[in-house]
Amino acid sequence: YNHRLERTEKLKIISDLAASVAHEVRNPLQVTRGFLQLLAGKSDEKNKPFFDLATNELDRASAIITDFLTFAKPEMETVSLLNLSEELRKIETMMTPLAAMHDTELLFISEPELYFQGNSSKLKQAFINVIKNSLEATGTNGRIEVTAIAENNEVVIRVKDNGEGMEEEQIAKLGVPFFSTKAKGTGLGLMVTFRIIEVMKGTIEFRSVKKQGTEAIIRFPLASTEEGSGALSGAGA
Ligand code: ADP
Ligand code: MG
Repeated sequence: YNHRLERTEKLKIISDLAASVAHEVRNPLQVTRGFLQLLAGKSDEKNKPFFDLATNELDRASAIITDFLTFAKPEMETVSLLNLSEELRKIETMMTPLAAMHDTELLFISEPELYFQGNSSKLKQAFINVIKNSLEATGTNGRIEVTAIAENNEVVIRVKDNGEGMEEEQIAKLGVPFFSTKAKGTGLGLMVTFRIIEVMKGTIEFRSVKKQGTEAIIRFPLASTEEGSGALSGAGA
């Protein structure tokens, strides 16, 4: 037998472990945050900076989990035929409350029958990281439009915001681990998104104009109808 695990096997173990750790760690973080705030209220004013620091660090840990591990599930290795408009509907349901909190209009428009191969949880994680960035980039009269169409044998999803936009050098650094221009940023969101899209054989590109907005364009190979019925019936492959 072989003592040494293959690299892919190791990665699988790490991602399974990460998923359960993320789930288990988020709750105690929230509880601790609550008690810290309670104590801060009862404590001497001179201690306030320490409570603020501690709360900020807890928020940072939560943000890392959100950007990195929210939908990492053990079954995330499974790939199936996805109906894009259905997937986008689920993402819309999750993101609408957050958009409301940011006072931003979030609009989804999708052709009804767009099929491609992918993993639903991973796809969610990828899009939530992109949409969250748009939400964080928009100010008053914020507007984000997510559109999905078929184009040249690909499904094309555009996430367009009217936010602060980016400089050329900023665009070049997207996806680099820990690159962030935000006070509370992790710089992990897009790294995770890029990786997921790559694994699903897709591409992502950004167009942005400073002070006008940003558009993320994501493409996946369109599944043919035959491929579709094969995957659905479990035949083929
Ligand atoms: P984080 O959001 O934690 O900063 P990300 O990897 O999600 O990390 O994004 C990295 C950086 O890319 C952001 O800090 C921001 O500067 C820039 N960025 C990403 N999306 C947008 C967007 N829609 N509008 C403006 N800037 C963006
Ligand atoms: Mg982000």
